[in-house]
Order: sequence, then C-alpha cells, then structure tokens
Amino acid sequence: PVHRTDEVQAARLRLPILAEEQQVMELINEHPIVIVAGETGSGKTTQVPQFLYEAGYAQHKMIGITEPRRVAAIAMSKRVAHEMNLPSSEVSYLIRFEGNVTPATRIKFMTDGVLLKEIETDFLLSKYSVIVLDEAHERSVYTDILVGLLSRIVPLRHKRSNPLKLIIMSATLRVSDFTENTRLFKVPPPLIKVEARQYPVTIHFQKRTPDDYVAEAYRKTLKIHAKLPEGGILIFVTGQQEVNQLVRKLRRAFPYTVQQKEQKEQQDHKQQEELEPEKEFDLKRTIRNMRKSKKKFLNQISLPKINLDDYKLPGDDTEADMHEVADDDSDPEEHDLLEDDHLNELTDTASTKQPLWVLPLYSLLSSEKQQRIFQPVPEGCRLCVVSTNVAETSLTIPHIKYVVDSGRQKTRLYDKLTGVSAFVVTYTSKASADQRTGRAGRISAGHCYRLYSSAVYNDLFADFNQPDIQQKPVDDLMLQMRCMGIDRVVHFPFPSPPDQLQLQAAEHRLAVLGALKPISSGVTTDLPPAVTQLGHVISHFPVSPRFGKMLALSNQQQLLPYTVCLVAALSVQELLIDTGVQRDDDVPSHSSKFHQRNMSWAAGGNYRLLGDPMVLLRAVGAAEYAGTRGNLAEFCEAYGLRPKAINEVRKLRVQLTNEINLNVSDVELCVDPQLKPPSNAQARFLRQILLAGMGDRVARKVPLDEITDKEERRRLKYAYNCADMEQPAFLHATSVLRQMSPDWIVYQEAYELMHGDSNKMFIRGITAIE
Ligand code: ADP
Ligand code: MG
Repeated sequence: PVHRTDEVQAARLRLPILAEEQQVMELINEHPIVIVAGETGSGKTTQVPQFLYEAGYAQHKMIGITEPRRVAAIAMSKRVAHEMNLPSSEVSYLIRFEGNVTPATRIKFMTDGVLLKEIETDFLLSKYSVIVLDEAHERSVYTDILVGLLSRIVPLRHKRSNPLKLIIMSATLRVSDFTENTRLFKVPPPLIKVEARQYPVTIHFQKRTPDDYVAEAYRKTLKIHAKLPEGGILIFVTGQQEVNQLVRKLRRAFPYTVQQKEQKEQQDHKQQEELEPEKEFDLKRTIRNMRKSKKKFLNQISLPKINLDDYKLPGDDTEADMHEVADDDSDPEEHDLLEDDHLNELTDTASTKQPLWVLPLYSLLSSEKQQRIFQPVPEGCRLCVVSTNVAETSLTIPHIKYVVDSGRQKTRLYDKLTGVSAFVVTYTSKASADQRTGRAGRISAGHCYRLYSSAVYNDLFADFNQPDIQQKPVDDLMLQMRCMGIDRVVHFPFPSPPDQLQLQAAEHRLAVLGALKPISSGVTTDLPPAVTQLGHVISHFPVSPRFGKMLALSNQQQLLPYTVCLVAALSVQELLIDTGVQRDDDVPSHSSKFHQRNMSWAAGGNYRLLGDPMVLLRAVGAAEYAGTRGNLAEFCEAYGLRPKAINEVRKLRVQLTNEINLNVSDVELCVDPQLKPPSNAQARFLRQILLAGMGDRVARKVPLDEITDKEERRRLKYAYNCADMEQPAFLHATSVLRQMSPDWIVYQEAYELMHGDSNKMFIRGITAIE
C-alpha cells in the first residue's frame, strides 16, 4: 500500500485523471495496448504510473515510462517518488550518463533513447510488465520507433504467456497515426480521453510581428505586471540564452529586495544568484562522463555496436544553444512600441514596485533549479517563469494566468545534401501555439499574449509540427535503424512512414558506400545486407553517411580538422560569392576577380588537384585568420566571401568537433581559427577521402578525340559522363579545374538548368581523381 501525505492526496484529488482511475485501469487490464489522451496538466505522467503500481504491475516486474525530454524524466521521477512517499531507489530515472536506478527500482522513468538501447540487449523487455510511452504527440524519432517495435513486442510477449502492456500517452487528440494505422496495430487500440476542466483563455494578437521577440516579451511582461491583477506569467522563448537574457532583465527591473527576504530561508538566497553556467560547462562534463563510461576508440575500429544517442546531445531536446538565432522572415517593419488596447484599458491593480519572482526553465537547467517552479512563491511576489517549449506539454507550472508567447521555437533542420543539422528559429505550429495558450487557463480564466499578428498565425504557422522521423534524412535513419539491429527497415511499421522508395534507394547508397555489405545480385536471401564495421563507425557521426565515412577515414595524418572544415564548408550554401550567383555556364568568369582568387587559392601541385574543395578550405582558413585580427568584414568584402556563411561554417565546425570529441575519446579535437592549409601530402589524402565519400559521384570526361564532328566537339568541351545519368553534365564555369578538365573527377553536386529550350546538367565542386 502507498502512504501519501494529506497534502499530496489533496493535490491529487484536484487532478482530472483521478476521477477516471477506475476506467483507465479497467481499460488497461482488458487490453494489451491503450491510448490515453488528456490535456497537459490533467495528471497523466504523475498519476498513471501510480495507478499501475497500486494495481500490482510493479510486483514482479518494473513499470517503465519513457519521455522524449531528459528534463521530464528527472522531474517526473522525483515528483512521483515524492507523491508515493517512496525513495529514489524505487522510483528512479535513467537518462544518458545519469540516473539513480537500483535493483530495487519499481517505477523507472527514462528517455526514449535509453529504452531503445535496452531493446537491443533484451528484445522482449523482460524486466517490464508495462511500458508507458509518454508525450507521444511530440513525435520524436525514438518514440516513433518505439511505437513500431512495441507493436510487435507486445503480441510476442502475449504468445509467451508473459504479457506486456503498452500505454501510449498524448497531450492531444491527434492520435490517428496510432489508431488508424493498421500496419502498426491490426486492431485499433482503445482511446481514453481524460476530460480536463479548462477555463477560457482570451487570445491577444499583436498588430505587427516584431523580429526582436525577446525585447517584445520583456515589454509585454512589464505591462502585464504593472497593470493586470494577480496571477503567474509564463513566457515562451526559444532557447537557454534567450531565457537567461530575459530573466536577468526582468530581475533587474523588479528586484526582490532585502526587506522582503525574511520569509522562506531556502528561497532567499536563490533569487539573485548566478544563472546556470551556459553550454560550455555541460559539454565538458559530458565529455568527462563519456571518458568514464569507457567508450572504445575510433582507431581501434571496434566501436560499441550502437550509439543511439548520437542525435541526443546534451541539451538537444530541441533547444541546443550552440546555435545562435537565425534570421526569421517575420514582418521586418520597424516596430514602434504599440500600445495594447486591452492592457491600456485596465487600471493599475498591482503596484509596479511589486517584486517579480523570476525563474528560468530549460532542459539543461539543473533539476534542483527546475524544481523551483513548483515551490511556493515568496509572499508579495508575482511568479514569472521564462521557459523554452519544455513548458508547453512536458512540465505543468502551477498558478499561471498569463502566457506571453513568442510564437517561435528552435527546430533542428537537416541539410539535404550533407545531413548536417543545425538549429534554427522558426515559427511554431498552430497546435503548439494553442498548447501554449492553454497553459493560462488552468486555475481560472486567463490571457495569452501572442507576440505576432493573426495574419502570421493564419498564413505562416503550420497546423501541426511534422513528425521528426519524416524530417530526418533517410540514409541516416536507415543506417541508424540498421545499427540498432532492425533488419527490415523498409517493412518497419512506422506510425508515419518515410517514403518507401527513398528507403530502398538509401539502402543501395549505403551499400555502395560500404556501410552495408554489398547487395549480392542473383542470390535472393531473405535478409538485407548486414551492417559493416565501417557502417557502425559511420553511424556515430551526426552527418549524412557519406560525410560520416569521410570523417571515419580521417583519423590519420592530422586530417580530421580539415575534413571537419570541409564538411562544414560544403554544408553551407554560397560561401563564395561567385558561385551560385551565376549558376549558368554562359557567363565567362575566367577573368573575373573572383575566378582569379579561386585560382590562386587552388594553386600548386596537389592543391590544384583537390580543386574546388581546396578553394573552400583556403577561404575558410583565410577568413578565420582575418577574423582573429579583427578584420573579417573587410576581408570578406575584398575577397568576395559571404560573412554570414563564414559564421555558419564556424558554428558547424564547433558542433562537429564537439560531437567527435564526445564520440571518439582518443581525439582531442579543437577548432583552430588559424588552421593552416593542408600539406601536399594531406591534400592528396583529402582527395582520396573525398573519393571514398563520393564514390557514386564519379564522372569521366567525354573523350573528345573520338568525336569527329567539330561542332559537337566544341559543344562537349567540358562534358563529363556521370554514373546514373543519361546525358553528359558540364563542368561549371567557376570550377578551378575547368581549364585542366582532368579525365576522372568526383563532384559534390549535380543540377539541372533550363538552357534555351532544353535542360542542361551541370556539376560543381570538382576534385581530380588522378
Ligand atoms: P500531464 O502529464 O497530464 O500533463 P502531470 O502529471 O505532469 O500532467 O501534472 C499533474 C500536476 O502535477 C500538475 O498540476 C503539475 O503542476 C503537478 N506537478 C508536477 N510536478 C510537480 C512538482 N514537482 N511539484 C508540485 N507539483 C507538481
Ligand atoms: Mg505529462
């Protein structure tokens, strides 16, 4: 039996899901798979595990709950332990590198990546009697894969008379991908809807959409605090830096002063203390942990079979802050401090002198500090929480009456060509914005201030966020799933499947790359080709497999810094001003100053043969060097580089370098702003590495001597035959290898342009093979 305190019991009784305990449990007892949908804050995450515990599900085996966010795994395990009066040795959590699980653990909260990893060693999840997949509406890649795997594991466990229950929980009713997908569940699982009382929330749009939403959030909060009655304020911005910036500003504006400090001893030292150290700190700690966890080394080529967490770096929960805010395309008009009609009508009910109890909330915040959002607010203060989208559905903050919504979020965007991902700030979806709005209506009628116009909301916000799995590059997904031991990815029951033809093509490309064993023609085996040793290594790099292979082969001759730089430079569009602007062959650019610049950067022996990638390496190196002397801007201007691209390349180099250091423990890579050009020998190795990664992008010069027709010879002067292409492609005019026109080359990119009446193929980013 569970002994709860009166206080906890009273709080539980206020949760809508408690009234439904019997119904929920009956449904779970009668069905192997159940979907629970209920408004955020209705008590799903904290109560369902307790229902299961009290119904005896933890007697012989464990209750497992997965969360896409690390924050939620930690916070929820603590809350449930507290509510049940059980020690953390029994209600525990496990996230990558951290946890308090013991042999006595009965209820285990974990990230979805952690459970996936457990499936590799224990496919039937025999330690669990029930698995709860929480926050399924977030559609994280790992949760989606778990749904697919569990749809098969549950019947298997049933066959063995050792049943496993699966509960899928969602904050939205949009669960048709789970209920109506018959490949996933032959019998649609029953859905139970938890009715939550929700008070009306008045939505206030802005007339215009300011670019600087952080400044706008600050102004709006000042007004709310000065003019509106009691009630907590919750502000949504996109990342840790923005959160900290806004918290500092608000604390400065409404300090919590000494005379008010007497009340709560545990609180009084906390208000003005230093904010959490930023990113840097955590990365280092994680790297140390990494070392401790005895990762094997890359150059031993016996890396651990899988690293499922490759895509979950610290703070990766959609808000890694290594990346600065990118531009967004919101209304660029000058924003003059618009007065909000609603706010102006109101009389002062709260004094502006009233202190604001400002708390930050984001994934990387220590769990101790996260807990403060649940602690009582010092008397006389108004609560104000500045949060990333963690507070959207994962954590429910009490006493919120006002929501200030920037309408933005950080999204991981993948470069199609390279698979390198970067975080960019985008508009959220309508569904997300409505979730955020809902946070204001839990205690009473509330208000939501949207820092964007209704036109922007209607026209530029997507209805829903797309499932992550459909945004991830397929080659990558294919390799990762294969490395997890999922053999038939093409037949995998995804809740929202990626394109099937794409998956097949990916399998083929991976075989060509050597990440999978060659696809043997003729012999029809049931199994798809196995993952090679190289494939396992490649899967550790957070870039597309072809670039992963280049990195994997670069741990020699001090090549890694160059390959990292190259991969970063190749990932950024239009670093050099001449390319891209004139993508058409017709413009003779040999005499242009840009072409001369390129030629001089590619000059000399093996440099020359490395070709266009060499120009990129030199451009980045020279620009960064200029940057260390403080004249990056002039340098870019003089040499025709795009300064923003240089910044992007730098960020990617930092990101890749960090991730390599994390995953490969014998390299201590750093980003050298003064990276010298490669030596001749290194340039030769780089050519081989490029060839290894671009094996399917090899082209051979059309042999002109065999052509008798003069006109035709002229036409085909720079023509190459590429594998898989019917018509020849032409070396782009900006290539430094155009004059030389080597017999065999690799190229980075092929594209088609309208040329007169017909289309003409061009290839760019040329390196000579020999
Ligand atoms: P759901 O999963 O349906 O969104 P939760 O179970 O997370 O709902 O939350 C139920 C309630 O528990 C919320 O009112 C929330 O504020 C409260 N709660 C969660 N964690 C804590 C905590 N650490 N301290 C106090 N209250 C908490
Ligand atoms: Mg929840």
